[in-house]
This record gives sequence, structure tokens and C-alpha cells, in this order.
Amino acid sequence: MIQQQVDLRRFNTFGLPAVAERFLALTDEAQLTDPLFRQAPDLVLGGGSNLLLMDELPGLTVHVQLSGVTWADGKGRYRVAAGTDWNQFVRYTLEQGHSGMENLILIPGTVGASPVQNIGAYGSEVAEFITTVHAWEYGVGAVDLSPADCAFGYRDSRFKREPGRYLITAVSFDLSEPRALKLDYGAIRTELELRQIDQPTASDVAAAVTAIRRSKLPDWFFLGNSGSFFKNPVVPRPQYEALHEQYTDLPAYPIDDTSVKLPAGWLIDRAGLRGTGTPRVGTYARQALVLVNRGGATGRDVLAFSTQVQETVAARFGVQLEREVQLIGRCD
Ligand SMILES: Cc1cc2nc3c(=O)[nH]c(=O)nc-3n(C[C@H](O)[C@H](O)[C@H](O)COP(=O)(O)OP(=O)(O)OC[C@H]3O[C@@H](n4cnc5c(N)ncnc54)[C@H](O)[C@@H]3O)c2cc1C
Repeated sequence: MIQQQVDLRRFNTFGLPAVAERFLALTDEAQLTDPLFRQAPDLVLGGGSNLLLMDELPGLTVHVQLSGVTWADGKGRYRVAAGTDWNQFVRYTLEQGHSGMENLILIPGTVGASPVQNIGAYGSEVAEFITTVHAWEYGVGAVDLSPADCAFGYRDSRFKREPGRYLITAVSFDLSEPRALKLDYGAIRTELELRQIDQPTASDVAAAVTAIRRSKLPDWFFLGNSGSFFKNPVVPRPQYEALHEQYTDLPAYPIDDTSVKLPAGWLIDRAGLRGTGTPRVGTYARQALVLVNRGGATGRDVLAFSTQVQETVAARFGVQLEREVQLIGRCD
């Protein structure tokens, strides 16, 4: 049943007030055969953890509430409904003794959104484990996409490049092959040493990643946010070299011979913006890349502040930051 004028504040991790003109909870795949789904709705909403919602969302918002592991072979192969909480699913696989996704623990959002930006953390990305993405192609019907069809890239996929073509209904994963633990990313080894663990299991790595993430990122339940607000910018090598002469401690990740990726958080921090802002919105004191709703912020407040951050960083370093989060709704 379509509801009118639904407040989405509790459906986005920024805790921003936004009213969907029309709202449909998708609880059963059979609903997709309704003529309504011959074309894309205005917004397909998962956990709302990668979105910057404006006050008014015109048209139809579909909230994906299909939930649960719908098939498993007991050997590490799973088919999981799109609305299932990602973190709960990762925990479940570990409880079943199927390792692989431990580095991806505690990423907010739903299983169905995980292929959209090919979520990743601590040296792993979800594309490594996906065998099939089950989707509804508007105007076509139910389709199964192989990893090659999904065209996964770094925080990228066909679903991101072709918005309005598919609604993901379920994702199939294969964790049946044992894989080596990935310990050389972020502070995983340091955290394991602190815990005096020298022969870690996948669950130990999951616990270490959980502790690291909790120490760096605010809990959105208490302090609304959408994780990394900006993408790490990629600049031409000569620009990086000029910057490096001036800022010798500027971290850099070479992409190829001609371009270099810079950490957006470092740039914001060194522009003097960490922990700054207004009473309603600002950068997180422990991680400048995260913008937080300090209470009562609207999408417009966050957008205005993020523009100030972009302008300050551009003026200081000549580097243009691009939003990672998706802006939804009218902002004119
Ligand atoms: C504190 C915090 C930490 C984070 N850390 C990470 C991290 O380490 N790594 C990382 O990669 N991301 C991270 N993120 C970003 C976010 O968790 C991911 O982008 C996540 O996959 C978004 O899932 P969601 O269900 O909330 O999607 P939403 O925010 O609801 O939607 C995101 C996009 O996916 C589309 N979408 C959602 N569901 C479907 C579906 N079923 N079918 C088709 N399209 C769909 C939406 O239309 C939208 O375009 C973090 C976010 C927060 C708040």
C-alpha cells in the first residue's frame, strides 16, 4: 500500500528530516509485478547510510524490506534478500564458520545496496564474494546478473552507473573456499598485537576491525552521519608533486604513472576544519572526513556546510572534493 507524506528521518543514518511524497514498503518480490514497477521509482531506499536527503522528496520512494537468508547450502553458499542488514549477515556467516567477509564487518546498510558501490574496507570488497545479483529490471522483469555483468570497480558498479535500471532483490555469495586472512590493512595487526593474538581466526579479525571502526567512526545512532562524506580525490602527478614540496607529510596513493589519490580526510584536517562547523552540523572531531548532524540539522544545512568545506580545501590546496554521498531531493 502506498502511503503519502512519510517522514524518512528514521530511515537515514544522518537523521535528516525528509518527507517522501509517496512511500511504498517492498516486503514481497511479488509486489514487483505491479504495473508500477514498469518504470523506476524516484528513490530505492535501503538503510539510508549513503544518502544526503533534502527536505522534500517528490514522487515515489520504495523502501526495500525483503529480509533474511533465503537459501544456504551449509557449505558457505548463501542467497540473501536485499533488505537484510549487511552487518548482521556478516556476523551470521562467521557464526556458521564461513570466513572471508570479516574485514567488511560493521559497514552500515543493506545487502541489496552492497553491490551498488561495491562496498569495501580493510583490503576487501564485496565483489570478491558475489556470484549472482538477482534484480528486477524495470520494464523487463526478473534478471540474474553475473559478476561480469555487474562491471564492478573500485566503489563502483553497473548499478551505480545505470541508476534507474535495476532494483536489486537478492544477492548470492560464495564463501565456500577457505581464504587467507587479510591482516595488512589499517591497524589490524596492531589491534591483534594489543589483544596478544598471534594466531588469529576470522572472528578475531572481525573483533579487531570492529574495535578499530568504533574508535574512528561515530555511531550514527547517537551522532547522525553517512560515513565518508567526500571521495578521495585523484590528481595529476605534477600537481601532487607540487603539493608534496609544500606539505612533505602529505600521504599519497599512486594510481598509475600519471595520477595520484590523496586522502580527503587529511586535506580537510590540514585546512583546519576538523571538529569545526555550526551547532547543527560539522566535521567529526576524530575524523575530518565524516560530517555529523550535531542535532537538528537539515539536508540544506549539511549541503551548505559541505560546500564551505569544498571551497576551503580548494582555496588551500587547489583540489576539488567530490561528494561520496548521494544527494536526493530538491535543493533549489
Ligand atoms: C558510519 C558509516 C560507515 C561507512 N563505512 C563504509 C565503508 O567502510 N565502506 C563502504 O564501502 N561504505 C561505507 N559506508 C557507506 C554505506 O554503508 C554503504 O554505501 C552501504 O552499502 C549503503 O547501504 P544502504 O542500504 O544504506 O543504501 P542507501 O544509502 O539506502 O542507498 C545507497 C544507494 O544504493 C541504492 N540502493 C539501495 N538499495 C538498493 C537496491 N535494493 N536495489 C538497487 N539500488 C539500491 C540507492 O538507491 C542509493 O543509490 C559507511 C556509511 C556510514 C554511515
